[in-house]
Amino acid sequence: MHLKIRPYRRTFRHPLRTAHGLWAVREGLILRLTDDQGHSGYGEIAPIPWFGTETPAQALAFCQSLEPDFWQHRTTLAETAIPPHLPATQFGLASAWADLQQARTASRFPPSPASPLPLCALLPTGTAALTAWPQLWEQGFRTFKWKIGVADIAQECRWLEALITQLPPQARVRLDANGGLTLDSATQLLEWCDQLNRTASLQPLSLRERGAGGEGQSADGGRIECLEQPLPLEQFAAMHHLAQQFRTPLALDESVATLAHLEDHHRRGWAGLWVVKPVIAGWPDRLRRVWRQHSPPMIFSSVFETPIGRQAALTLAQDYAQDVPGDRALGFGTLGWFADEWDTLSPAQIWDRAEDSG
Ligand SMILES: [Mg+2]
Repeated sequence: MHLKIRPYRRTFRHPLRTAHGLWAVREGLILRLTDDQGHSGYGEIAPIPWFGTETPAQALAFCQSLEPDFWQHRTTLAETAIPPHLPATQFGLASAWADLQQARTASRFPPSPASPLPLCALLPTGTAALTAWPQLWEQGFRTFKWKIGVADIAQECRWLEALITQLPPQARVRLDANGGLTLDSATQLLEWCDQLNRTASLQPLSLRERGAGGEGQSADGGRIECLEQPLPLEQFAAMHHLAQQFRTPLALDESVATLAHLEDHHRRGWAGLWVVKPVIAGWPDRLRRVWRQHSPPMIFSSVFETPIGRQAALTLAQDYAQDVPGDRALGFGTLGWFADEWDTLSPAQIWDRAEDSG
C-alpha cells in the first residue's frame, strides 16, 4: 500500500467575506491510497488555520514524513497514528483509508450528487443577500445563511429586517458572526432577533420541501433559526450567558472546530447548538462516539472542500441524522463558489486536476 499526495489551490469566484477577513484561495491536499492489487481510495485534507487547525504545509509535511513501511502490511488505522494537532489530516487519512476499504470490497457506491437531506444556502455578505436569495429559493433552498459582523450592527439589523420581510414565511435564516461581535453588539442583535421571531412567525414547509429522509421543519422554531459564534473563542462565559438570556438559539462554531474543543465545551456545560465541520473536526469515528454518547443538536457544515471531502462529510451527516433526528438543514449549500468546475467531477478527475492546480 502506498500514499500519494497532491496539493491543490482553488480560487473563489468572489473572495468570501467574513469577520475573519477575505478568503480568496482555498488550499488543501488530495490523497490517494493505493494497495498492491491496484485499488485506490481517495481522501482530502482541507484545513482552515484561522479555525485553529494545522496549515496545508504542516499537513503535507506530516504525510510526507510517513515512511513507506508505515503503510506496509497495515490492517487498521489507529487514532494514535496521527497527532491531535493535525485534525484535518486525521479526517483526510481516515477517509482515504475508509474509501480504500470500500473499493477493495467493491461496496463503494457512486457518490450521489444530491444530498437526501435539505441544505442551507450561503448568501453573499452584506446587502447583496437581498438580491441573491430569490434564485436560491427557486433552486429549492429554504434555509439561508448570512454572514454578519462585517458592518455597523445597527445597519446589519436593518438589512436583516429587510431580508426577513422579503423572504417567504417558510424561509429560515441562520446568522453567522464568525466571532466578530462585541458583547454590546451581540446583545443588540439578539434583542432584534427575538423581536423579529416574535412578530414574524415561521410557516411549516410542505411535505415536498422537507426533503427525503428529513424530519421536516417544526413550526415552533423562529424565522431566525440561530446565531453562530457571536463572540471570539475566549469569551465562552459571555456566550453562555447570552444563550440563557435570549430565546434565539446560539450555536458555537469556531469555539468547537475540533473534537477536543467540542468535548471540552460539552464538559463546560454548553447547552446550545453545535456547528460541526467534519473535515476539520478530526477522527470520524470519534465524532460518531460523541453524538452517540450525548445526542447534541449538531449542524453539519462544509469548509469549502472538494467533492472528495464533501462526500465523506455528508456520509457522517447522514449517519447523524439517523441517530439524532432533527430538522436543521445541512450547511453544505456551498457548491458553485469556485471559479472552476471541480464540484461536478469524480474523485479520480479531481485527482488529475489537482496535479496542475497546486
Ligand atoms: Mg460559522
